[in-house]
Amino acid sequence: MNKQSKKFLADLINSISPSGYEGPVAKVWKAEATTFASRVWTDTHGNSHAVVNPGGSPVVMLAGHYDEIGFQISYIDDEGFLWIQALGGWDPQIAQGQRVQIMTKKGVVRGVIGKVAIHMQTPEDRKKVSEIKDLWVDVGAKNKADAEKMVEIGDPLVIASGYEEMANGLAVGRAFDDRAGAFVVLEAARQLAKLSPKAEIHAVATVQEEIGLRGAQTAAYGINPDIGIAVDVTFATDHPNMGEARKRENLIELGKGPVLTRGPNINSKLFDLLVKTAKAEKIPVQINAEPRGTGTDANALQLNRSGVTTALVSIPLRYMHSPCELISLKDLELCSKLIAKTVEKVTPRTNFVPF
Ligand SMILES: [Zn+2]
Repeated sequence: MNKQSKKFLADLINSISPSGYEGPVAKVWKAEATTFASRVWTDTHGNSHAVVNPGGSPVVMLAGHYDEIGFQISYIDDEGFLWIQALGGWDPQIAQGQRVQIMTKKGVVRGVIGKVAIHMQTPEDRKKVSEIKDLWVDVGAKNKADAEKMVEIGDPLVIASGYEEMANGLAVGRAFDDRAGAFVVLEAARQLAKLSPKAEIHAVATVQEEIGLRGAQTAAYGINPDIGIAVDVTFATDHPNMGEARKRENLIELGKGPVLTRGPNINSKLFDLLVKTAKAEKIPVQINAEPRGTGTDANALQLNRSGVTTALVSIPLRYMHSPCELISLKDLELCSKLIAKTVEKVTPRTNFVPF
């Protein structure tokens, strides 16, 4: 991956932007988009758009969500401790004992998610699983009034952990779900700007996916695309303790290329075109079966208006919804290349009626 792209990816990961508060990451994404796209803007819901080859046909929407899971302050107690609610799907065991960054009007406030020390827990306490409602944030405030000088009800927060590179081309960070997808759709659009596509391409960084595919729904309605490709992360199953899932699900490995989903949520002809293109370009792909609507923007895309030709290209990721989400940088490059090369082949005459 070249230096410019790597810096773009790191800046995306390091932006504090949970669902509903995507402002900081939108700034990073749009700054990059304006270096090559014909038109770049943010809609009233917060989705950011970058258009390549305006006036082309058909209209292709590439969607990657740029929100992340986080928390929101819902109560400040008399002692100055902050009580929180989840923005998105949390494993509360992961959140405990973490440092957090709270996004306030005045800037970032540091805090920690506290927990009673192991020494002070009864044997029963030690076996108990905590829930989000048991978690509090400590910002070092003296009391309620002191805390209220630092934060307000409704301020969002995320775990304090940023982008880092590891061995063998892997990278770790929070929010690879799904800044990795927002990265891939813009990189694909960047490549398409240098190719000669017939299609008009809308790369869209969508909001609020983690709380119900909300941004993709409004963006797709506005764009009214013929074709939609969602890019999200998916579970790599190449690590210990996968248990029964190993027997039910196909093995998905980091660094082995894009994951293409087959199932009712996916247009079979667009799936075939992706596979054919991967073969021609010598891009390895991994196949995943999903017998229902996927839990991704692909679901919102397909069900837009009278139906959209939809595919899902996924990036393998270990340890989803944790501060140590692990991905392979090579997979990101392969995903954007596969999408660019596939979209390049689509013409106004390409027939995607599935049967
Ligand atoms: Zn997620």
